[in-house]
Amino acid sequence: MKKSLMAVVILLNLWGESASAAEPGDCPRALSLEKTAIETEAVCLLQKYVRIDTTNPPGNELATARFLAAFLHQEGIEATLFESAPGRANLYARLRGDGSRKALMLVHHMDVVPAVPGEWQKPPFAAVREDGYLWGRGTLDDKGPGIMEALAFVMLKRLSIPLARDVVLLGVADEEQGGAQGARFMMNAHFALFKDVEFALNEGGGMLELADKRMLYAVEFAQKVPLWLEITANGPAGHASLPRHEAATHRLVRALSRLERFEFPIIVVPEVQKVFAQRVQALPETERGDYQNLAQSLKNNSAFRKTFMSDPHRVVMVRNSLAITMLTGSGKENVYPAQAKAVLDLRLLPGQDPQAVIATLAKVMNESEVNIRTLLSSQAHASPIDTALYRAIGALIQRHDAHAQITPNFIAGFTDCNTFRSKGIVCYGFMPEHLPIGETERIHGRDERIAVEDLTQATLLLHELVRDVAGH
Ligand SMILES: [Zn+2]
Repeated sequence: MKKSLMAVVILLNLWGESASAAEPGDCPRALSLEKTAIETEAVCLLQKYVRIDTTNPPGNELATARFLAAFLHQEGIEATLFESAPGRANLYARLRGDGSRKALMLVHHMDVVPAVPGEWQKPPFAAVREDGYLWGRGTLDDKGPGIMEALAFVMLKRLSIPLARDVVLLGVADEEQGGAQGARFMMNAHFALFKDVEFALNEGGGMLELADKRMLYAVEFAQKVPLWLEITANGPAGHASLPRHEAATHRLVRALSRLERFEFPIIVVPEVQKVFAQRVQALPETERGDYQNLAQSLKNNSAFRKTFMSDPHRVVMVRNSLAITMLTGSGKENVYPAQAKAVLDLRLLPGQDPQAVIATLAKVMNESEVNIRTLLSSQAHASPIDTALYRAIGALIQRHDAHAQITPNFIAGFTDCNTFRSKGIVCYGFMPEHLPIGETERIHGRDERIAVEDLTQATLLLHELVRDVAGH
């Protein structure tokens, strides 16, 4: 067979497979919480789910929304799709309780970040099962948790669990690009559907293993917020043979180099103080003191400050951050462009005023003909931790591992939780899944994968948690 023809045939075969792969119908249905049955169904569903490529951009979440809707439909659960743009959709379904308590929502995002196939050990959208893992983009972030939620949700119906709370399943589009077509669209255009939702569980936290092998259940309750800025420098366009101090590219480089050296001040917000006050319980008593009042210790104790600030994961908890992520200039080697652009990804601590930060940056850049435009900006909202849901997570842990510890967590990344919090919903970043350090580094990176054991166990634990919170 000619090589090109062979390629066409292979392509056709793949197409045929992926078209039928989007049907959940042929996955064996678990009719009990027996582990093997849950594992078989969860793996089958996740493989099909990962094989639907929802790389954002463009997203294409209409396909995943249809897949989940078909899965729910075969269980007799009605799902509604909300299209926010061509090819972009959000999935919403609800199981009714007796109305005596407010609703609990399980939410995940259906889009994924890009994957470069050549860099991966396994093709990123093939969902290969090997060595106890399921490999593929989204297996951890966030399609794996999406299947945990969908299956935990459906098992309520299959097992006829009586509910006090309604349970809502929400699959959103566009989380990886800021959520304008997803969580924000749903909260702004369709809030009536969510006005009785008291609690939401989302990505952003899980079970972390400590050095002494004890498990820490980290429940994200507060996070930084993004401030994305476009920096545009203007200057005379022209031939590059003549050096020009005022060229747009040169202006931009000078401005950016000043920004790159700029350091935001150290600020300890109450949410971060709360996290450290909890964490020190695990430390020897002699080492706890400095963390009880972190702001003061960072200010007055230089040795402590030096140690603390040597860990970049801690630095981001007490300082706004700034990353220069995109650059564009001339399209030609020997031409100055009239305009050069950069994009900055800043992450602000709760309570920071974006306008004040922008004013500071303009001063730091100190360059004429340079403008700042806001691409994305939001206000940070935290959830209280004195809630029935938080206590239920604590109780779940105690039941399964008496040595484990629950802890409120603050993250430097951002999730859709902030959008839900802005509408008064208590949202926690928590899935009862293991998040080993080496594995979480694959999120947004290469060779993302989930341990099959974990997928199964987390599905069962999540189902149990939902029963505890929403059941009678
Ligand atoms: Zn995610």
